[in-house]
Amino acid sequence: MSRYNELLQAITVREGGREVHDPATGELIGRVPVQSAADVDAAIDRARAAQPAWAALSDEERVGHLNRIADAIEANAEALAELLSREQGKPLNGPNARFEVSACAAWTRVPAATPLPVEVVIDDGETYAEMHYRPLGVVGAITPWNWPMMIAIWQIIPALRMGNAVVQKPSEYTTLSGLALAHVVNTVLPDGVLNVVAGGGDLGSRIVESDLVEKIMFTGSTRTGKKIIEASSGSIKRLTLELGGNDAGIVLDDVDPEAIAEDLFWGAFINTGQTCAALKRLYVADAIYDSVVSALAEVAARMPMGNGLDEENVLGPLQNDMQFEIVDRLVASAKASGARVVLGGDPDRDAVGYFYPTTLIADIDPHNDLVVEEQFGPALPIVRYTDLDEAVRLANELDAGLGASVWSSDRERARELAARIQAGTVWINSHGTINPFVPFGGAKQSGYGLEFGVAGLKSVAQPQIIQG
Ligand code: NDP
Repeated sequence: MSRYNELLQAITVREGGREVHDPATGELIGRVPVQSAADVDAAIDRARAAQPAWAALSDEERVGHLNRIADAIEANAEALAELLSREQGKPLNGPNARFEVSACAAWTRVPAATPLPVEVVIDDGETYAEMHYRPLGVVGAITPWNWPMMIAIWQIIPALRMGNAVVQKPSEYTTLSGLALAHVVNTVLPDGVLNVVAGGGDLGSRIVESDLVEKIMFTGSTRTGKKIIEASSGSIKRLTLELGGNDAGIVLDDVDPEAIAEDLFWGAFINTGQTCAALKRLYVADAIYDSVVSALAEVAARMPMGNGLDEENVLGPLQNDMQFEIVDRLVASAKASGARVVLGGDPDRDAVGYFYPTTLIADIDPHNDLVVEEQFGPALPIVRYTDLDEAVRLANELDAGLGASVWSSDRERARELAARIQAGTVWINSHGTINPFVPFGGAKQSGYGLEFGVAGLKSVAQPQIIQG
């Protein structure tokens, strides 16, 4: 039996449960369990029971476990990538499924290799104080469907590194991916340290409302993030919220359009646009507007979209019907306003799968719905600007502030502009190029709390001062 089939057999149920279909073909992939609130409570109990022994291991022992998790992910990489591609839709090739699985290993090894030693805060002869980072206890991880394995790793691994146990609830759209990854991780971990609950409905809120969970890591919509903030108040839970965004990119008049076109494309269309920190609205200086649009259109037109298991494709379907309808509504709004469709914009409704064609919309009103609402799909609005201050004002006027980018051949000019943009990260001449050593988090309603690097470890620990 292939490793893919072994994995599938280990995580699916034969009867009952919920059917999972391939978003490219509609084909049945398997059935996942649908668990209840009582199962969530049992998972939290298992985590609480396992956490003290996990926390009591030495740092070196926990690091050893994490490195063995990375080894296990690498040993199962192709099977995980195939399953991810079939359930999520993203192609194996390009910056997609294989890339995501390799990122899982990287985002495991880096926290494993990042020490968080005791910090001496003051030692002036009179006062001595040091800061320790203790385990919190149980961390609840509520993970999304766009990068269902990589974002799970972002949430789980730092929490484990700091001596916490974890209860994870994968999105109901990508339960298989969550279960498969956890199955591989759990071949290394002691029982009860990582627990996954599968299903949907009220499982996430059950975790948030539990008094036995100390911290929630959530990646998803601002709407659900607000509910989590409210529900967490009962137990003053710690929260890290990554609530997506509507990232702006500002292209200055001194760029070479052809030189930046491919990076602009992937900044916007990685994972077929279903990425929290993707470029979602592009502002281009009038002097080079037409050249940037045509260079981008040339790149976009040659990127094949189709079934993810077909090696030639680098763009896939949308993961679900809900997201297809959002993208379709926003593009319809742009078209109705008289904006210019440069590419795509006309999905084949009779075709199988949630395929939405790669779409570029030019000469669009900066307040059109496609600009001001998050599309989370393969449709990029390109706004023309003549006054740079006005472009900055437009970039900053929304409630979202996850990422942004500035494109210029003059690094100093770009850095000055970056400082004026309200976003958690501003990239120069790239977009969304995250790195496991570099903290990542949102401004404004894109959430709060940092992930990655030392800051990410601190966010899943309880700081404790010892003075005297
Ligand atoms: P949501 O943000 O609504 O998240 C759904 C997840 O949150 C499920 O696991 C659900 O589990 C859980 N949940 C829902 N309500 C609560 C609650 N009150 N307390 C705790 N957990 C809760 O995402 P959707 O999948 O519905 O996507 C909606 C939009 O979010 C998309 O259109 C997209 O724009 C954006 N999005 C952003 C992502 C990002 O990377 N930032 C990723 C994915 C989507 P349960 O039902 O069991 O409680």
